[in-house]
Amino acid sequence: MSDEPLVLLVEDEKELRRFIRAALTARGHRLIEATTVAEAKLLATSHHPELVLLDLGLPDGDGLELLASLREWTQVPVIVLSARGREDDKVTALDAGADDYLTKPFGTNELLARMRVALRHRATSGPSGDAKVLVFGDVTIDRVKRIVTRGGSELHLTPIEYRLLTLLAEHAGKVLTHRHILKEVWGPSYATQSHYVRVHMAELRKKIEADPARPKLVVTEPGVGYRLREA
Ligand code: CA
Repeated sequence: MSDEPLVLLVEDEKELRRFIRAALTARGHRLIEATTVAEAKLLATSHHPELVLLDLGLPDGDGLELLASLREWTQVPVIVLSARGREDDKVTALDAGADDYLTKPFGTNELLARMRVALRHRATSGPSGDAKVLVFGDVTIDRVKRIVTRGGSELHLTPIEYRLLTLLAEHAGKVLTHRHILKEVWGPSYATQSHYVRVHMAELRKKIEADPARPKLVVTEPGVGYRLREA
């Protein structure tokens, strides 16, 4: 029996299913497929997949409906497959509990890389949430002493910048929406104040990035949010 993770693919486009099936089975992944919301619900409860690839536009409903019903009983990683230019869909899906998204069309390497990140977060669940020291690139966060260093020298972050950085670092590799960041750093009543994030992110980047105009550690996901690149 293979110990490769079981992946549930929910997608009604035949060509895309064939592409993903070829990419995954070539690497030994185990795959089950559904083409509708109803079928996907059945397969998810009967097979308990370890990862879900989810198309949003399905013949009998919206992928978000499936996501909501999954989140009632499982934290299985969900990667949304969304059409280009539908930033609102991505944001809604991430806020509804999706772990990541891929914009169609995407390549095999991108698909596999995102799957690895999602599966790793699952494997280390309670993510790096409990780690005392977080390291990415040349930046180190010591959460016990509340000290951040870059290349060995201490950075002087404001409390907001510190919260922002640790939030991103706790979810390294995962895209966080503006709304999510606002709720976590500023509180629920600030969820629509996207400019707060932009302003403070710009200040944070001046401190942590070698070239703040071309950020390498915290990258912008246009129209969606930010992602801290995994080292
Ligand atoms: Ca579709």
